[in-house]
Amino acid sequence: MTPEDSQYECCQHIYLETFGCQMNELDSELVQSQLSALGYAFSDDRDAADVVLFNTCSVRQQAENKVLSRVGELGIEKSQGRSLVVGLLGCLCEREGLGLLRRHPQIDFLCGPGELDKLPILLRNASQGESQLAADRAALQGNRSRRSTVLGRAEDGLETLDRERSFEADSQAIRNRSAYVRITRGCNKFCTYCVVPATRGAEVHRPPEAIISECRSLADAGVIEVTLIGQTVNHYTYTHGVALSAEGKELPQVGPGGRAFENGVNHAGSVTSFAELLRRVHDEVPAIERLRFVTSYPRDFGDDILEAMRDCERICRYLHVPAQSGSNAVLARMNRGYSVEEYEDFVARARAMMPDISIAGDIIVGFCGETEEDFRATSDLLRRVRFKNNFIFRYSPRPGTAAMSRLADDVPEETKKQRINNLLAVQSEISGEVHAALKGQTVSVFVQRVSPQSSKMVDGGIDLLRHSRGVQVSGRTEGDLICVFDVPQDIAAEQVIGSIVEVEIMDTGPLLLRGVLRSW
Ligand code: SAM
Ligand code: SF4
Repeated sequence: MTPEDSQYECCQHIYLETFGCQMNELDSELVQSQLSALGYAFSDDRDAADVVLFNTCSVRQQAENKVLSRVGELGIEKSQGRSLVVGLLGCLCEREGLGLLRRHPQIDFLCGPGELDKLPILLRNASQGESQLAADRAALQGNRSRRSTVLGRAEDGLETLDRERSFEADSQAIRNRSAYVRITRGCNKFCTYCVVPATRGAEVHRPPEAIISECRSLADAGVIEVTLIGQTVNHYTYTHGVALSAEGKELPQVGPGGRAFENGVNHAGSVTSFAELLRRVHDEVPAIERLRFVTSYPRDFGDDILEAMRDCERICRYLHVPAQSGSNAVLARMNRGYSVEEYEDFVARARAMMPDISIAGDIIVGFCGETEEDFRATSDLLRRVRFKNNFIFRYSPRPGTAAMSRLADDVPEETKKQRINNLLAVQSEISGEVHAALKGQTVSVFVQRVSPQSSKMVDGGIDLLRHSRGVQVSGRTEGDLICVFDVPQDIAAEQVIGSIVEVEIMDTGPLLLRGVLRSW
């Protein structure tokens, strides 16, 4: 915080709601750190807030509709005299641009995901009721971030945001003892259906020292699970000695693109590869008991990464590696850059090295030109790979993407619905079998919360039940399977929440494992 910033200190209450992916969850946490340091308070009560911020997602139309319906409600409240500042953050702002302010005059400002360091000034101006041109009420990158390979000033601001993350006990990551740590921003892949490269800009990698130092501070504050995040997290690579500040400190740098991975060899000079980064975090911050990473891209996933996972006991044997489709024709139209055979080769390599690895994915059904035969091929892929779960989406055409401008959205909505239901049933059967294989085994579970099942039973919900005895809690295994168990009558739920315990699996279903606490 600069001395000028401290003059923004205020006592306004902010309600912040987050939509979408892990990137947005982390961005929201960093925004909260940044604004709390300036004196803003955060509230869970939207009706009592002075400021409402929505951190938006633009990946599917449904996600946008949700935000815009909330914006509509606030428009009615403002027209009835409620004094309120409404700000939109995130990908929808980048995708829609200033048109959003014209169409929804109740929105006071927009802040794209690459401009979050400018949020305090936007918020201050809006709170002071300064009348401004639309352009001055928006901080957006447009396609600036792709114009050159030179890192924009905005990236320094974003790095500052990461570096100024709060490690205070009241921050969500510290409370949950589980944190996301960004290693890469943006994406260079240009899958034809996807808005992310346009909304989040080019791939930028953070220096390893900054990542390790953040992990160490989180661990010192009590975090035991860290998930390293990036859109194509396994693309991480950092060339040393290239991006240096005036003081000689390494800075984030624009990714090298596909060339760095030609023939599986990194052609750059002194480099920290993703595998090396994993090993360094594992070895240098041993207090992190579970180290994960998402989301992996099926191509460019070298054996060195699998070896690091195999060799380092605290790296979870879990991969989230979206296949998107089981048809080569569809994958080609999606511009995914791999075939079904290559995807399965990758899975075979991973399983040969770690037979117990747990694999999750994403699938899009009803993409442009998807035939019944293509769809059957996807269903067959699910059965062959035996994913522990898949996030399955209906294709949603996004303005500004290559698919929307060049390919017809020709699968009828009704067919998309049938296909998604069909695939969910197939996945549910497979998940049930994956879970059933664990019956009778004792597994380590990181206990996260009172289970939603228990919290439904009382007024006051989860917080009240944390202090209760004998309630059901829920957590995740190393392979990211959901596991529930009842805490014994002689201990309160909060005594196990936030720790890793041993649970014997007694019963299983398609969604979860049910067990008995054996040791903690
Ligand atoms: N970078 C990750 C990857 O490539 O695997 C995924 C990031 S994306 C934000 C999350 C998921 O949303 C994708 O894996 C894809 O399945 C889904 N998705 C993205 N664009 C979509 C669209 N236009 N319609 C439906 N689903 C979409
Ligand atoms: Fe989107 Fe493809 Fe990049 Fe994933 S890899 S964020 S799906 S463009």
